[in-house]
Amino acid sequence: MRQARHRSSRRHLGWVVALFVILIAGAAAGGGWWLKQRHDHAVASRQLAAKLKAAKAGWSGEIVAAKLKGGRVIYRLPGDVTQPAPAVAQKAQAALDALPKGATAKTAVVTVALHGVPYGLASLDVASTAYGVVDYRLHQVSAKAADLATVIQATGQPATLRQLVDTDPARRAINYQARQVMANGLHLDAAGLQRVLQAPLLANLDAGNFRLSATTLTITDQAQKPVAAVPLAKVDRFLKGGRGVELPGKVIALTFDDGPNPTLTPQILAALKTAGVKATFFMLGSGIHDYPATARAVAASGNEIGIHTYDHQYLPGLSVAAGLEQVYGKMAQTYYQTFGTLPTLLRPPYGAIGKQLAAAEDLPAIQWTTDSQDWESKNAGAILNRVKGTAYAGGIVLMHDIQPATAQALPNVIRALRGQGYRFVTVSELLGGRLLPGHQYFGRGDERPV
Ligand code: ZN
Repeated sequence: MRQARHRSSRRHLGWVVALFVILIAGAAAGGGWWLKQRHDHAVASRQLAAKLKAAKAGWSGEIVAAKLKGGRVIYRLPGDVTQPAPAVAQKAQAALDALPKGATAKTAVVTVALHGVPYGLASLDVASTAYGVVDYRLHQVSAKAADLATVIQATGQPATLRQLVDTDPARRAINYQARQVMANGLHLDAAGLQRVLQAPLLANLDAGNFRLSATTLTITDQAQKPVAAVPLAKVDRFLKGGRGVELPGKVIALTFDDGPNPTLTPQILAALKTAGVKATFFMLGSGIHDYPATARAVAASGNEIGIHTYDHQYLPGLSVAAGLEQVYGKMAQTYYQTFGTLPTLLRPPYGAIGKQLAAAEDLPAIQWTTDSQDWESKNAGAILNRVKGTAYAGGIVLMHDIQPATAQALPNVIRALRGQGYRFVTVSELLGGRLLPGHQYFGRGDERPV
């Protein structure tokens, strides 16, 4: 009995020893695995620390550390910039988010570079590398974004239109240049054209929805997507310090209203061509609609074309909505269908436009300095004498290409003015191209708010 018990306890001991051996072996294996993990983790941490140290040491500008959702960021900012712009912080967050799920010790190094663009602004480039420990190894993801935002060069903070533009008419002129970029040559349908004309674009001087490069002003929408990329050469005259270049010397602009006329407009074109003169035609929308071939012949001959409303309305007598229909609505539509571009100059019938409409449409109003009174005299000799007697340098001469006497008088008018030393130019050449919405132009050096 005793013997048996002894044998039994010895066998029992054998099992205990075996179990113990298994446990030791298991612990040793598990411990080895655990030790290796601990070692790998320490290596990854050291590697990360070295990367971050190098990132800080290798930067001559500002270093700013910040916490974001799920990790840390080290911003390497240029020069005196002490705070990352919102667009940069967004990129930092995106860099952290690009790391694999489950990564620990997430840290992004975000390097910001500015390249100077005009007007004390700078365009912002961002390069990011996000680090994280994944499966006990250091993992990294890099990304780059160029021209991410436009900021004030001195502070790195987001730019507003105020850095670029002094006045509201200049802002509207820039928007209208953008509308031309969005429409010209693109064969938009009527709805598309109205969308372009009504797009908010740069809504006020505090607007920040743009980016500026050395060559382009890009207007963006709420989601920062580009809406119109406007060459700087088209808008720099409306920006701070910009100016139009009015033509000096004894220059004068001949203008013809109320056409096109299928008989008289071609006669006038022929007289201009013979004399080597370019003029400006302010056309009615209804005339363009009825005689598109004549209208296109005016454009093809290199003369300038402006609009004179759709059907010759006295604009101050209309509601703003009806006035807009005369300038933008069916007028712009007819013009666009015929020429493929948006109109840029408005001559209001009778020279009359009210403040409210002038605030609602973006075309400059072109007036005149010399009235030929051709519509009144209907006499070629009287027209010649009237123009000869009242013309002056930098002036704009009002005539009508629906008057037979005007077509008859034109060769003599040109000859007489040439004899007085005048050179003939288009209205936009004369006025220098810095023409503002809400303003009216009576001649060179005579610009007045409506
Ligand atoms: Zn008229």
